[in-house]
Amino acid sequence: MSINPHPTLPDFDYIKPDNIEEAAKFLVEHPGQSRPLSGGTDIFVRLRDGVWKDKFLVDIKHLDGMKEIRFDPSTGLTIGAAVNMNRVDLHKVIHEKYSILAEAARSCASYQLRNRATIVGNICNASPAGDTIGACLLLDGVLNITGVEGSRKEPLDTFFLGPGKTKLKIGDIVTSIQFPLPAKGMQGKYIKHGRNNLGDLSIVGVSVVGVPDKRVASGFRMRLALASVAPTPLVVKEVEELLARKNISLETIIEAAQLASIACNPITDVRGSARYRKQMAKNLSIRALTNVWKKLNG
Ligand SMILES: Cc1cc2nc3c(=O)[nH]c(=O)nc-3n(C[C@H](O)[C@H](O)[C@H](O)COP(=O)(O)OP(=O)(O)OC[C@H]3O[C@@H](n4cnc5c(N)ncnc54)[C@H](O)[C@@H]3O)c2cc1C
Repeated sequence: MSINPHPTLPDFDYIKPDNIEEAAKFLVEHPGQSRPLSGGTDIFVRLRDGVWKDKFLVDIKHLDGMKEIRFDPSTGLTIGAAVNMNRVDLHKVIHEKYSILAEAARSCASYQLRNRATIVGNICNASPAGDTIGACLLLDGVLNITGVEGSRKEPLDTFFLGPGKTKLKIGDIVTSIQFPLPAKGMQGKYIKHGRNNLGDLSIVGVSVVGVPDKRVASGFRMRLALASVAPTPLVVKEVEELLARKNISLETIIEAAQLASIACNPITDVRGSARYRKQMAKNLSIRALTNVWKKLNG
């Protein structure tokens, strides 16, 4: 992969289909040359740098339901694929019931960028550093997808196959992401560690949600997901198992954070070494777990 030393946007055709079927058909008829366009915040950088070479960008933002946020008190939350991150951050119900999602959205880049960037774009781009993906995984997000063969649902926990690789097939368009109702008393926290506070990508990101649960020995179910420490966003099952089994205290939280660090398989890059990432995964896991633990205890 070579980076264009004199970056400018290459020529491309902008396609505005009338409906989702037309969009999917166009994508299938132009494999390797076209992709769905949402906020464009990943796409335009990649096109400018010559990493992607698409000839057609197929806009999906205006299609039915893409800009809707719906909350149904009996089934949960649905966020249209073209809803930008600022709308997620400012939505009252999301703040009240799915606060970690608003917090994760708010951690991305700048206000200006969040006016374009979408949660679904963050997911489809499948960067291990995607800041909103951990929250979506812990909230049991499910993608609604339409392709040329019809519509289907894809749970997020099996969606990611590698950096930039997902279960999406050519012609697939994610129309929305849905979340079930949160368990009563759910608390969450996202901690992002970047090189600066100006919206850099994360060196390590830690998402934690916790709920009271009488069915487990500790009385609480705590879940943890990590960003930027493995080829795909990582939910550390061992943390959930340990904190369900043992009484929760600072000691068990440190033990759980150590498990999170062991689960990491990070790379060394310009933002941090693998060793630093593993250590920070532990430190930030302690902080995030403690924060949620304190909130659960009022
Ligand atoms: C300056 C800058 C700062 C950034 N900072 C952060 C940050 O702090 N944290 C972070 O996580 N990310 C960051 N990013 C990356 C980017 O903003 C996010 O990944 C964003 O969420 C992408 O959403 P989008 O709507 O712009 O996606 P797009 O660029 O439109 O699309 C991204 C990819 O997903 C595909 N796609 C998009 N929507 C769909 C759909 N509905 N169905 C099928 N495929 C789809 C596209 O075809 C493309 O391959 C930053 C980017 C820039 C330029």
